[in-house]
Amino acid sequence: MNWGIIGHEWAVEYLQRSITGGRTAHAYLITGPAGIGKALLALRMAQVFNCEQQGDAPCLQCRACRRIASGNHPDVRLAGMETQAAGVKASDAARQKDLKIDTVRAWQRDIALKPYEGRCRVFILHDAERLNEEASNAMLKTLEEPPPFAMLILVANNTNLLATIVSRCQVIRLRPLPRDHVAQALIAHAGVEPERAALLAAWSNGRIGWALHAATSPDEILTRQEQLDTLLALHTQPHSSSFRWAEDRSKEYRGGEQTLVLEWLDLWQSWWRDLLLIAAGCPDGITHIDRREDLEREARRYKLQEIYRFVVRLDEAARRLRENVNPQLALENLLLHLPRRTG
Ligand SMILES: [Zn+2]
Repeated sequence: MNWGIIGHEWAVEYLQRSITGGRTAHAYLITGPAGIGKALLALRMAQVFNCEQQGDAPCLQCRACRRIASGNHPDVRLAGMETQAAGVKASDAARQKDLKIDTVRAWQRDIALKPYEGRCRVFILHDAERLNEEASNAMLKTLEEPPPFAMLILVANNTNLLATIVSRCQVIRLRPLPRDHVAQALIAHAGVEPERAALLAAWSNGRIGWALHAATSPDEILTRQEQLDTLLALHTQPHSSSFRWAEDRSKEYRGGEQTLVLEWLDLWQSWWRDLLLIAAGCPDGITHIDRREDLEREARRYKLQEIYRFVVRLDEAARRLRENVNPQLALENLLLHLPRRTG
């Protein structure tokens, strides 16, 4: 059912209709936030186009389907930041910020070949939003003249790609699943108890892949709670100690751990967004449902306008970090603008 995918039924139906109608594209772009299920959909597409049953759904049982699932099919290739980092020193790999032309060229050589044993050579490129200019232009050439047996599946966390690349792809935008849908799936497929399922679903923002991963990673959940406590302590600490937090994060950032630092900001923003929802009288959509009482108490301590401004500031800080401003300045600037509690 649904290609063994939880949610995103419309995307599966759309692809099935294209297959039965003989209208499949040479290139697809799957977008959506991290952990929403893009990689799984890309894998299922590679399977359906090579499945021995040749139906409009991958059987998931035949040799081709199984080999693709285990990453051992000669006609299905994967590339992305992770494959680019393979064979490079870990510290250098962490510093890589974009997908380079060599990564694109390596599989472009491959793409013109006939399939070895499947019907279609499928190239899945993860992190496509990180293609640098040179690599994008190389990619564009392949998209303009796609080899007859090849299918390109670009996977990206956002649509910040060359417009000419996007326009040559069939775009599939995966959207967050409803919160109760995620909770039900956690109960049904991962055996999570209802209360915990509700919490993970709230935290997931509709990203089913993230929720399933979190359900089996108790350490990660613990870390997340500790991080939130650290962030909340910043609200009352003197600048001398909160600036130490900014310094630590900025060291991480410079050391190549950009994603980790951006996740701190994401988590912080989820807290302030919750305060905003409560202050605005819409408490149903909050993320931190396990800390509702704290949130309600805190929300009374700030003016609505100030909460809103800080949510925007957090957004700006994340954007500036991505644009490579001095991370310490960006974070200290945030701390200096933390709203003051009234009462
Ligand atoms: Zn199959």
